[in-house]
Amino acid sequence: MVAPLNIGTVSVMPGEMKRGGIPIGGDMYARQREVPIIVYRGVEDGPILWLNGATHGDEPEGPFSIYKALAQIDPKKLRGTVVAVPVMNVQAFTAGLRGDPLDTFSHDMNRIYPGKADGYPTDRVAWAHWQAMKDNCDLQIAIHSGGEHSYLAHMIFASDNPVSLELAAAMGPNWSLVFRSGTGGGNPSSQMGALGKGGITVELGGNCRTLTNDFHVIADDLAEGYLNVMRHYGMIDGAASYAPAWRMGFQIALLAPATGMFVGAADLPFETTLPAGTLIGQVYDLYGDVIGEVRAPREGVIFGLRSRPSVLEGQWCCFFGVIEQTVDNLIPK
Ligand SMILES: [Zn+2]
Repeated sequence: MVAPLNIGTVSVMPGEMKRGGIPIGGDMYARQREVPIIVYRGVEDGPILWLNGATHGDEPEGPFSIYKALAQIDPKKLRGTVVAVPVMNVQAFTAGLRGDPLDTFSHDMNRIYPGKADGYPTDRVAWAHWQAMKDNCDLQIAIHSGGEHSYLAHMIFASDNPVSLELAAAMGPNWSLVFRSGTGGGNPSSQMGALGKGGITVELGGNCRTLTNDFHVIADDLAEGYLNVMRHYGMIDGAASYAPAWRMGFQIALLAPATGMFVGAADLPFETTLPAGTLIGQVYDLYGDVIGEVRAPREGVIFGLRSRPSVLEGQWCCFFGVIEQTVDNLIPK
């Protein structure tokens, strides 16, 4: 006798797809609020994979890529389970902002996760999500982007354990930048890592790339990564493909040296190794004079760049990656 899998309000049997929610408390209209979830339970056993989008409300790449990936899954042919949370932070997504504008104390869900049962509003949403996920998840992918102020190229922050590094490698050929992040930190991937499970945070896109075909290109790219993960773990048919090697290291935030308008250098490539001293961008004052420059502090790659030109001295302009090692062994042989 097979038992139903219960997550939030969803109770799902093998071969079924069900929609429902994770209850998070009431609203002003005396209705119960829920974070929407979609569960595809396969007919055969396999891992439980969670896809978590829009932890930050200004990052619509998560939901759009999840919709595209789910459209290619049939629970009657699936092994294991896919739990999709297109928008974790509905309040923030409604506002189109990074965090819930009504919550100033636990504003950034990706810093306070897993929150608290009796905490501030975002704490409570995070806690409800964590209670639903922690015992019903083997592999977790949190989907992020540059949001309203920046663009981020393909980058994975993997919780620092072998399971998470394998999950990162399973994203496929476009994802060769994999940096270790700690375990036990204030975000879902790091919390999964602390349980010894797989947790990665993938970054791609930004509001500067949400127009027409460009948004589809970004979302298709992400969705193909999740499908490659499902192939790698045998959840769907087909052979997974991989980057030939993975570049690992750490990030440096390059900050504005002056207040004004930041303009990135023309033809600047992302994800490509650049020599120390490469011009990344310039800051103009309002008379049109260049009053500051951002240059590569050492050899490395650009994986994030400011897309909102107005900048204050000290605000970030570039996420710069320093590659410490290139490895080819993230997938166990
Ligand atoms: Zn984010």
